[in-house]
Amino acid sequence: MAIICHLKEHEFVYGKLENVAPGIRRLTARNPSVFTFHGTGTYVIGQGQVAVIDPGPLDSDHIQALIEGLSAETVTHILVTHCHLDHSPAARELKSHTGALTYGFGPHGQMTKGESESVEEGADLDFVPDVRCAHGDVINGLGWRVECVHTPGHTSNHLCFALDNPSALFTGDHIMAWSTTVVIPPDGNMTDYITSLKKLTRRTESTYWPTHGPPLREPLPYVHSLIRHRQERIQQIIQQLTRTPQTVPELVAALYQGLDTRLTGAAGRSTLASLIHLHDLGQVSCDSQPDLNSQFTLTHP
Ligand SMILES: [Zn+2]
Repeated sequence: MAIICHLKEHEFVYGKLENVAPGIRRLTARNPSVFTFHGTGTYVIGQGQVAVIDPGPLDSDHIQALIEGLSAETVTHILVTHCHLDHSPAARELKSHTGALTYGFGPHGQMTKGESESVEEGADLDFVPDVRCAHGDVINGLGWRVECVHTPGHTSNHLCFALDNPSALFTGDHIMAWSTTVVIPPDGNMTDYITSLKKLTRRTESTYWPTHGPPLREPLPYVHSLIRHRQERIQQIIQQLTRTPQTVPELVAALYQGLDTRLTGAAGRSTLASLIHLHDLGQVSCDSQPDLNSQFTLTHP
């Protein structure tokens, strides 16, 4: 498998709005988990009149620290990369306190309330942005300017935000330095995810600021390693299926040996996402709509 050089060292202090680069501050929420690493990093860009990126979970201490940290300034924009429960719910409270409008691609994509409860990160199905942003849209604030980069895959409504000065890309959960990203169907889509990774290889931002974990400097070699990793995982699935038709749990047992058991569910859903990708290409078939219990067969062994 392609070697991915994850960065796990992360300097931060909970509950403190920290300067992390000129014009960029970050407040880390105390919601650590196997999916959020140390917690949600809420970013603030600008000075005096600022934008908040990913306000975070419904955590009163976090929201209070954010409001107090910005008490001498005006929040003019609330930007949301995607609406998982660790990213968008605090937008409502921040908006009601500041009057700032929320910006995002749109509400969460295909998922019912029942389905969202089975997803580790959980979907915020109530979030609807005031301003819907399309790929390439530019948002101007006082002394800052960001471009919206639509990066579906982790979720269908995922946006990255590109700041021009200093050169930075706020990557949400699309790219994280500490871990690979979960891609959970039906809203998560592996074909879109790989396309969205390739989209970033044509960009020039010199530092990525994921919502979880440390920043990524000179990020393009890392992006290429993520693409290779996904492509190799898909090839491994094809190799497994050349032996015999298999289900998702059988493939996970074969391909993810030694995996932390807390991540087995996510590995299964990412494997299903790869199988749906192959199904859409006509390379695998199954007896019904692809799901975790389907038996997958190579179309041309
Ligand atoms: Zn997410």
